[in-house]
Amino acid sequence: MELGEWSQISILTVQINRLRRWYRCGLLCIGDAAHAMSPAGGVGINLAIQDAVAAARILAGPLQKRNVPAAALAAVEKRRTLPTRFTQAIQLAAHRGIVRVFENPGTIRAPWQLKAAMRIPGIQRAVGYAVGIGVRPEHVRNERAAGSVRLRLSTVIFAGLGIASVAVALGWTIWKALKNSAVSGAIPSKSRAA
Ligand SMILES: Cc1cc2nc3c(=O)[nH]c(=O)nc-3n(C[C@H](O)[C@H](O)[C@H](O)COP(=O)(O)OP(=O)(O)OC[C@H]3O[C@@H](n4cnc5c(N)ncnc54)[C@H](O)[C@@H]3O)c2cc1C
Repeated sequence: MELGEWSQISILTVQINRLRRWYRCGLLCIGDAAHAMSPAGGVGINLAIQDAVAAARILAGPLQKRNVPAAALAAVEKRRTLPTRFTQAIQLAAHRGIVRVFENPGTIRAPWQLKAAMRIPGIQRAVGYAVGIGVRPEHVRNERAAGSVRLRLSTVIFAGLGIASVAVALGWTIWKALKNSAVSGAIPSKSRAA
């Protein structure tokens, strides 16, 4: 497609902002709808997905009961506010750094603190992990799987208790039998001595 005039293009604005409240009765905003993220760090989509996972976990139960109180929606906002604020603060700091880079006409040198930090063994891997996983990782908790793990654990405990009881009973019986045979074996020797 050939561009004929400037109105055919649109500027993709970069924003960093947050809603004062992410929910109202029957509505919950997550991802960029609740907190617009900038491209800095390439983490906006991570937060959007983590919001969705947290929302699914917190709201699945109330949704199944067809009763989603405002408190449940507030719980999603409460859980996701800290990672959002933290990540946006980092993005703002990155923006200030990028602005300084563009404002500097000469050769750019990395500050000594950054150079020193980059020499710490494993730091790059750790930073990559921190960026990828974020401040508050979210996991899909499969209640059915958790239930089967609980079931397996209880089976192991009961089986262990059963085996232990049988072992104690068997040991007691063998010990008694050995003791009895020792006593009965002693009588003839005594009688022989007599
Ligand atoms: C220039 C730029 C570059 C970026 N680069 C990165 C990057 O490299 N990595 C990264 O992780 N993040 C990046 N981000 C941030 C990232 O794009 C967002 O944080 C992320 O896309 C948010 O996901 P979302 O699902 O909440 O919203 P969106 O991705 O915006 O998805 C919302 C969807 O809803 C649709 N929609 C809107 N209104 C309606 C409607 N009425 N009915 C039906 N559908 C509707 C939209 O078309 C859109 O598909 C960048 C942001 C910008 C501005």
